Amino acid sequence: MKIAILSRNTKLYSTQRLVESAKKRGHEVQVIDPLRCYMNITSHSPSIHYKGVELEGFDAVIPRIGASVTFYATAVLRQFEVMGVYPLNESVAISRSRDKLRSLQLLAREGIGLPITGFAHAPDDTKDLIKMVGGTPLVVKLLEGTQGIGVVLTETQKAAESVVQAFRNLDAHILVQEFIREAAGADIRCFVIGQRVVAAIMRQGPEGEFRSNLHRGGAAHSVRITPQERTAATRAAHILGLNVAGVDILRSKHGPLVMEVNSSPGLGGVEAATQKDIAGAMIAFVEKHAEPGKTRTRGKG
Ligand code: ADP
Repeated sequence: MKIAILSRNTKLYSTQRLVESAKKRGHEVQVIDPLRCYMNITSHSPSIHYKGVELEGFDAVIPRIGASVTFYATAVLRQFEVMGVYPLNESVAISRSRDKLRSLQLLAREGIGLPITGFAHAPDDTKDLIKMVGGTPLVVKLLEGTQGIGVVLTETQKAAESVVQAFRNLDAHILVQEFIREAAGADIRCFVIGQRVVAAIMRQGPEGEFRSNLHRGGAAHSVRITPQERTAATRAAHILGLNVAGVDILRSKHGPLVMEVNSSPGLGGVEAATQKDIAGAMIAFVEKHAEPGKTRTRGKG
């Protein structure tokens, strides 16, 4: 097969592993920076050009799209779909998962367990917002934050009010969430491919830190997950329409609660902690499913 990997950086661990695995399995592979693609979107001759050359003959495309380039990169992916190239994750599903508000609403609608969560932009009545989600302790998050930055634990009513008010002044989207204390600074990343969790790791924050992010000094190890966790992860990926997803789960006393679904989950942490060949499993999935024109949506939202 001829496989395109949409990635901005050939040096990233995940990109390198996918290239290596595709080659090892006998495929031709090209890493394409989506921002450098230019496209003819007319219906009689849809095409993508890259560095002066038309991209032709691809059987599959693996999107590895960073949050900051979602808009243009999903447009490029959509163009591949229009041209009948099989995408490992579809553009529509990626856009859906990148919109945290929309994806949590979709998961809630389908009955997936989530922490009690409120959304706000410019709430006039902070006290009422806090009351609405059950009071403190609360985790207040800036929707635009990543790697745990902009995620604050507020134990008291006063602290919660002042954080919400400070965020309100940033003209940002605010998420106000029940604090799952029993998760004890840990979360579980389930790596889903197809309808299976192929690997799961537990990320544990350092002593005294409720955030488990590896960027905040957290550590990861392989973990055995429960059947409920397995089901929550695969269902969450399925609801968003993702073939490949990193589903982040908090272990609560009421069972698994889904926090986030990532459409371009990194391979580094999970391969290191589990010693599993996740890149190979992704390529194997592509081999099994790639056929011309076999996208559910062909980019239609
Ligand atoms: P980011 O997307 O910036 O990583 P998250 O929403 O994933 O932010 O939060 C960072 C970390 O904080 C999570 O990995 C988890 O360990 C912890 N955390 C987030 N929300 C909650 C919560 N409601 N209860 C307990 N811990 C939480």
